[in-house]
Amino acid sequence: MHPDRNKYKNIAVLGGGESGCGAALLAQKHGITSFVSDKGKIKSIFKNELIDHQIAFEENTHSETLLGSFELVVKSPGIPDNAPIIVFLRKKCIPIISEIEFGYWFTNATLVCITGSNGKTTTTLLTGHIMETAGLDVCVAGNVGQSFARQLAISDHDYFVLELSSFQLDDIQHFKADIAVITNITPDHLDRYDHDFEKYAKSKFRILNNQDENDAFVYCSDDTAIISRINQSGIKSKQYPFSLTPYNGGEGGAIKDNNIIINIHQNTLTMTLEQLALQGKHNVYNSMAAGISAKLLQIRKESIKLGLSDFQNVAHRLEYVANVHGVSYYNDSKATNVNSTWYALENMQRPVVWIAGGVDKGNDYTDLLPLVKSKVKAIICLGLDNSKLIETFGGLVDQMYEVHSMAHAVMVASEISSNDDVVLLSPACASFDLFENYEDRGIRFKEAVKSL
Ligand code: ADP
Repeated sequence: MHPDRNKYKNIAVLGGGESGCGAALLAQKHGITSFVSDKGKIKSIFKNELIDHQIAFEENTHSETLLGSFELVVKSPGIPDNAPIIVFLRKKCIPIISEIEFGYWFTNATLVCITGSNGKTTTTLLTGHIMETAGLDVCVAGNVGQSFARQLAISDHDYFVLELSSFQLDDIQHFKADIAVITNITPDHLDRYDHDFEKYAKSKFRILNNQDENDAFVYCSDDTAIISRINQSGIKSKQYPFSLTPYNGGEGGAIKDNNIIINIHQNTLTMTLEQLALQGKHNVYNSMAAGISAKLLQIRKESIKLGLSDFQNVAHRLEYVANVHGVSYYNDSKATNVNSTWYALENMQRPVVWIAGGVDKGNDYTDLLPLVKSKVKAIICLGLDNSKLIETFGGLVDQMYEVHSMAHAVMVASEISSNDDVVLLSPACASFDLFENYEDRGIRFKEAVKSL
């Protein structure tokens, strides 16, 4: 519990969504009055919640004078630093903290915190699953499921596993992870970081802020973006790297023959790769990260092995959908950047009909070229603007198609694929041009496949 929790009686909350409403409810639970302000329309589910709890709010505007009168502002992660209201409040030197920081003030729970460009949700849920398997009082929150503040408003727990995006890490102050995990750092969301990869990577490293010798830092040591920054970051916590390189007796995770080895304090856990519920290289990393975290929490090996082997894959992440006329369909709609698609293609052992495209976030496709050349027989471009895909891969693949609906994409895929091919939806792009979000895109893919 942080001393500042008793300092404020009246706060403003920016953003009336999951995080903002969570913060307002948590404030109320602790006798703090809040005023919620949203520049846009507040979704009715949240509006009703605020009304039910008699929490004051405004929508479609930020009233500067009013907001400028508060002593503390809690900010939702969706609001960028250059939003005029943030610039205004900073000018007035009003403290602004993130919802994650605010939540932290009200709990003494042990916190396992997971960030990275890809694999956050999978690793978070997998870690939570192992902890539940071991019978711990654990709650999964943050960027997956409900917000940290909302969960705390409902009830406190012994342990939280928090998925944290870089946006959520941007305005933390005292927040401290007992175990911090960085899965990887590859370009994504650079529009929020002035198209500067360094700034984005730095914000991921904020997960280590305030950690001391008693805390743990778990990270992928095959990731050059992480490794190159470790030495410059003055890290105090104990380091537990994981890697797909051969085991050399070091602490952390590594590979020996066909096994993963997790070695913590000279106590090792061994599992064959086949025993892991989640397959593919990327998931070996995720399993190592979750396994190391669990072992650091002194969970018994039997529970860790059980949790790593019976976990149910999360929807839209390289999710097997069906086999139709000898063709396997995979839904990887959550692959919204190049790196996640790289792992999907890398994992495929049969000729691929690749459905790609959407809103390009400044993608550099260079890393995909060898995989596309060796594995992809056709590309179906599913976006409003497919020019970059066509320009990049046109010379590499014989068959390129442009479509503007999922039903059409799946129909073309089924027509051009033959026995033993794979049809892979792994867009490497955001979904907002043709779909509500990546879930909507994945659901429509699955529906189209099932109606073949
Ligand atoms: P996040 O929450 O960081 O977006 P998810 O677990 O939801 O991560 O996975 C997003 C996408 O990234 C999916 O396509 C998934 O298959 C892929 N992925 C999962 N783990 C990794 C990893 N460790 N490295 C690269 N890609 C990954």
